[in-house]
Amino acid sequence: MAKRRATSGALLGSSDETGLRETRVTENIEIAAGVFLLKYPRERDFLPGQVVGITVDRRIAPRYYSISSGKDEEFVDLLYDVVPGGELTPLLAALRGGDLLFVSPPSGAFLDGDEEGWWIATGTGIAPFVSMAKSGLGGRKHLVHGSRLASGLYYRKYFAAVLKERYVSCCTKEAGDGIFSGRLTAWLGQQEDLPTSGRFLLCGSAEMVVDVRDLLIARGVPFGNISSEIYF
Ligand SMILES: Cc1cc2nc3c(=O)[nH]c(=O)nc-3n(C[C@H](O)[C@H](O)[C@H](O)COP(=O)(O)OP(=O)(O)OC[C@H]3O[C@@H](n4cnc5c(N)ncnc54)[C@H](O)[C@@H]3O)c2cc1C
Repeated sequence: MAKRRATSGALLGSSDETGLRETRVTENIEIAAGVFLLKYPRERDFLPGQVVGITVDRRIAPRYYSISSGKDEEFVDLLYDVVPGGELTPLLAALRGGDLLFVSPPSGAFLDGDEEGWWIATGTGIAPFVSMAKSGLGGRKHLVHGSRLASGLYYRKYFAAVLKERYVSCCTKEAGDGIFSGRLTAWLGQQEDLPTSGRFLLCGSAEMVVDVRDLLIARGVPFGNISSEIYF
């Protein structure tokens, strides 16, 4: 991709000793109350499940976000919620197309193959699984996604179409067609035929990750078959 000159005088696409590279926001859309999908041009390769650190100002430490776009897509997508009173996310929410963004190289080892397995997420923790599915790893996966409200079941239509009956959505505060009423741990607890082989990837809140890990281990899933990414 051709490099363009940024207003600061640095070359867009070049990175400094911190590894942060300047890019421009393509778009930043509020897809649900307080939840945004940020898009910028993909200039580096990544593995589905990896994260990038981003910031709007070099004086503010980058925060990590899972990439939610496919590995071959032209743009990188990041799905984030605004933390009220947070240092970075209110500034991210104010970004418009063309604004400057600082992006680290992709990193992280929350990766998967295309073998049969389970993806389990709460809230924006769905992001790495979107990337994996869009990169062709969803063919033999089961996905369980939990949220308080149905509006928090991001990518619901996409996963319902791609994974079909292997996609389960759970809501604790709202009822809806095809949505399990309750926590995803309650849904998992009701499944008598949960396999003990295959990998389980968990992503989202610490509470969910700990609860699901305990449940799986109690069911006989070896600890080594469980990988987790906690958003904090
Ligand atoms: C590996 C990794 C991947 C991540 N991927 C994503 C992602 O894809 N999408 C995403 O939205 N976030 C993700 N996060 C969380 C993200 O990095 C930031 O922590 C979050 O966006 C808060 O940024 P902030 O600067 O606005 O708040 P901060 O100023 O950092 O935090 C302010 C306060 O809010 C608390 N806090 C932080 N996050 C939350 C939250 N979600 N809800 C309530 N309180 C919170 C902090 O503990 C702190 O006390 C990820 C974190 C990690 C470690």
